[in-house]
Amino acid sequence: MAADKFEVLKRYFGYSSFRNGQEELVDALLAGQDVLGIMPTGAGKSLCYQIPAIMMKGIALVISPLISLMKDQVNALVQQGVSAAYLNRSLTEAQYNKALANAANGKYKIIYVAPERLESSSFLRFALNAEISMIAVDEAHCVSQWGQDFRPSYLNIDSFISKLNLHPVIGAFTATATEEVKDDIIRLLNLNDPLKVTTGFDRPNLFFSVLRPQNNSSKLLELIKERNGQSGIIYCSTRKKVEEVCDLLNRNRISATRYHAGLKDDERVRNQDDFVYDRRDVMVATNAFGMGIDKSDVRFVIHYNMPKNIESYYQEAGRAGRDGVDADCILLYAKADVNTCKYFIENIEDNEDLSQEQKDFFRQREEERLKQMVFYCTMSDCLRGFMLRYFGDKHKDYCGKCSNCLTEFETVDVTVEAQKILSCIIRTGQNYGVKMITDVLRGVSTDKITRARLDRQSTFGIMKNVKAAEIKYLIEKLEEQEYIISVGAEKPILRVTEMSYPVLRGNSSVKICKARKLRSIVSKSERHHVDPELFDALKVVRTYFAKKKGVPAFVIFSDATLADMCRIMPTTEAEFLSVSGVGANKLEKYGEAFLNVIRKYKPDKNGTAPFAMDADRLNYFAYSDKPISVSEITFRINDLNKDQNCKKLKATDITEWLLENEFLKAATINGKNYKLPTPKGKELGMTSETRINDDGNWYKIVLYNRAAQGFIIDNINRIICGRIE
Ligand code: ADP
Ligand code: MG
Repeated sequence: MAADKFEVLKRYFGYSSFRNGQEELVDALLAGQDVLGIMPTGAGKSLCYQIPAIMMKGIALVISPLISLMKDQVNALVQQGVSAAYLNRSLTEAQYNKALANAANGKYKIIYVAPERLESSSFLRFALNAEISMIAVDEAHCVSQWGQDFRPSYLNIDSFISKLNLHPVIGAFTATATEEVKDDIIRLLNLNDPLKVTTGFDRPNLFFSVLRPQNNSSKLLELIKERNGQSGIIYCSTRKKVEEVCDLLNRNRISATRYHAGLKDDERVRNQDDFVYDRRDVMVATNAFGMGIDKSDVRFVIHYNMPKNIESYYQEAGRAGRDGVDADCILLYAKADVNTCKYFIENIEDNEDLSQEQKDFFRQREEERLKQMVFYCTMSDCLRGFMLRYFGDKHKDYCGKCSNCLTEFETVDVTVEAQKILSCIIRTGQNYGVKMITDVLRGVSTDKITRARLDRQSTFGIMKNVKAAEIKYLIEKLEEQEYIISVGAEKPILRVTEMSYPVLRGNSSVKICKARKLRSIVSKSERHHVDPELFDALKVVRTYFAKKKGVPAFVIFSDATLADMCRIMPTTEAEFLSVSGVGANKLEKYGEAFLNVIRKYKPDKNGTAPFAMDADRLNYFAYSDKPISVSEITFRINDLNKDQNCKKLKATDITEWLLENEFLKAATINGKNYKLPTPKGKELGMTSETRINDDGNWYKIVLYNRAAQGFIIDNINRIICGRIE
């Protein structure tokens, strides 16, 4: 073997260390052992077979289910300097023959093929004469009928392999694998004593939240506007909703496109490309969209409707942030979605092959899954913890990076309101849905109510002064706690359960958990930890090259790589090579262009003059109403001074001055050193907050409110003088 695996990792992919699980899989394949790698989306499965493929003699075949995915992966490999090609029906016959001839001449190290190809005679002729040293099966769960993405042609992989002259080593990779699917993969691909590697399901860079807006569409617009210019996916439950939401966004000048099974093939492909190549920011889609999308810089996934189970949700939400940079997964919960899901379950297509017993079993299982999904949307525990436990991973009860962990909940006693609602349901004969019950309670005399004489009921108008939305919310809460059930999917009616009677008799009380306020919000600039201006400047260069080469932007450099450039601010080639995601090939192709931007942006690199600040400029300091960190304050101060050819102010300049003047004190907690506010500091408006980093460790951070920011600005010249030798 010519090169060593670390050399290949850096040279072609630009990374200096392997992620969890990757190295073992690479080693096993290189040693000739079959492998089964189960890792979540974005964990980096491709590298596990691409690195051995580059290092081994002969050709590696990668079997992949989707054409678009092959194109992107091959694009990326070619950009990295690896000779690769794909063979599928998107090529014309002439292109296909040419590629096959090149392959036969040993031009490619890695060839992506669709499973259907394996049966074609021209491909088989090539394969029988070539030295195929490895077969990697991507999305290997497609071989199993248990999974949701079964592909019959995956069943032919094994017979294809058995025809080859030399038996290649086989690697199978997937993100989803229950025990049944795992067994199927090993059996149907005939893996020989495979090394099985399963990494945890956690995706630490994803921020999960569940919102319960009164109005989904205005909330959606607000969320997207906050994320202006970022790539995102909006999932809706039906084609009709996709159309509606896509129109809504376009009417509001948001650059959006759509995807669902009702569109013609060519439009689907076009829309998908518009999204992948950043010609449109937002993709509005049904769950038909996603598998085969390797776009690594999707910054948010919003579920406009609740999906039918946690499996689907985690898979769809997981399409955000594959590049490892922070991304948001937001679910907009509405009670009506539960009924839609119930309706789907009750009307599951009648499958002739299933017995009644099997059908019942299937329905029950789906109902149970739906229940878990609803629980996820309505509970107040850690969202990440709940999902990871659902998949069998261990996780603590607090992640610090989901909407529940960041929300303060309060328990409210609503026994009296519950009694009113429950007795209204009973008195009206347990015959009506939410709307009618709400109207009766509020004393609204609609035609329907007077006709049914419900206005003569003793419960008519007993919640006259409560808003309809509040009553609706209470009914939902009572249903979540199973005091009420709704029966029938299309026009559900409310009934009370056994649990209600003790409440009505006054023997038991009802408490609900209400969100009081968000404890803290992770602000956008803090999340990237980089200078947004430089980041945007680098993005412009990236777009230029992406257009020129006809590839998606993330194929040039991922967001994670640009962020790393902002942090390191390299000005020499050697420094540029130390950026994560920059390998020899990309240095050569793009180094100069990116370096020039950074060099221009960093005029103080050689500036020797000490930091100095004109007092007038301080008037333009961008105060934050939210408490911010000292790094953020420093960043904002330096921002005022960026045209000055002097050194920058450092965060430690400020903290050391605060220490000297006893606004901060040093403290050691669990063996770690921190600086925490003294009582004097607290009086000023400094607070400390505990946060959790990606590795699950706690740390403390000091935040400065508006008054504390003002104090620092007022004293900036003292701070500077104090620090100058
Ligand atoms: P998967 O197929 O498991 O969903 P990919 O193979 O598409 O994930 O990789 C996701 C992202 O992670 C890509 O942008 C890839 O470049 C990046 N990546 C993979 N391995 C590493 C590594 N060792 N260090 C840093 N980034 C990595
Ligand atoms: Mg993959």
